[in-house]
Amino acid sequence: DLKGQVAIVTGSTSGIGLALARAVAAGGGDVVLNGLGDPAEIERTRADLEASSGVRVRYHPADMTRGEEIADMVAFAQGELGRLDILVNNAGIQHVESVEKFPTDQWEKIIAINLSSAFYATRAAIPIMKAQGRGRIVNMASAHGLVASPFKSAYVAAKHGVIGFTKTVALEVARDGITCNAICPGFVETPIVTKQIADQARTRNMTEEQVLTDVILAAQPTKRFVTTDELTGIFLYLVSDLGASANGASFSIDGGWTAQ
Ligand code: NAD
Repeated sequence: DLKGQVAIVTGSTSGIGLALARAVAAGGGDVVLNGLGDPAEIERTRADLEASSGVRVRYHPADMTRGEEIADMVAFAQGELGRLDILVNNAGIQHVESVEKFPTDQWEKIIAINLSSAFYATRAAIPIMKAQGRGRIVNMASAHGLVASPFKSAYVAAKHGVIGFTKTVALEVARDGITCNAICPGFVETPIVTKQIADQARTRNMTEEQVLTDVILAAQPTKRFVTTDELTGIFLYLVSDLGASANGASFSIDGGWTAQ
């Protein structure tokens, strides 16, 4: 039951973030949506979620490459909705290319969006959570926070960084009623994955069908995608009172990928 709680979910105009934002609203919590996209479509998503759930749903357009906009998003949540109980650092992008050809601007962007944005949001959220005596920070890492795959140097580096950051924050806030954990999903069928299938096909000189079976699903012993509902399950546990002793941990929801 998330009634009376307020959550920010970064990168929640699509995919996993949108599913987690919907889960917060379904549990009775107010939500700040964030992410890129067509403004009219985002407004439709916001209004639909508000109407169907009866909670307050706001949108903040912070660009996750900009620290000052991220700090403004956190202040906006508290200003508009009165508090901040749950921060989900979820926004992320991917670029698939060998290290020697990796575009330097893509490297910088991935580190900024996938790693540094979590720092900016967390540093702004902690004082609010400390003052409330409770808080939950959930970082969307990846199986690639624990193991690597070729051609994803920036993403793998950023996601390993997220796990280190998660552990450090957890130690710093352990006595303040705040927890900080990472979720490490395997492949989930969202735009970030469907977009990379074509890139992987080009980089590996394979067909898109081969990429799907021999690269993407080959990683997962279950031979299927992880669903957003399966991520919602661990997320709702982590933000609940029962999750109070889960701190600084990484939860693999990857169909067995990293057990190999
Ligand atoms: P997605 O592409 O559907 O969603 C990404 C979200 O991030 C979108 O809302 C997008 O607008 C937002 N975003 C991107 N750049 C942004 C920026 N500069 N400022 C603000 N928002 C920005 O992908 P997804 O699969 O839902 O990914 C969500 C998270 O889950 C990412 O961190 C991703 O790395 C992680 N993840 C995904 C998978 C998977 O297989 N889909 C697996 C493991 C981890």
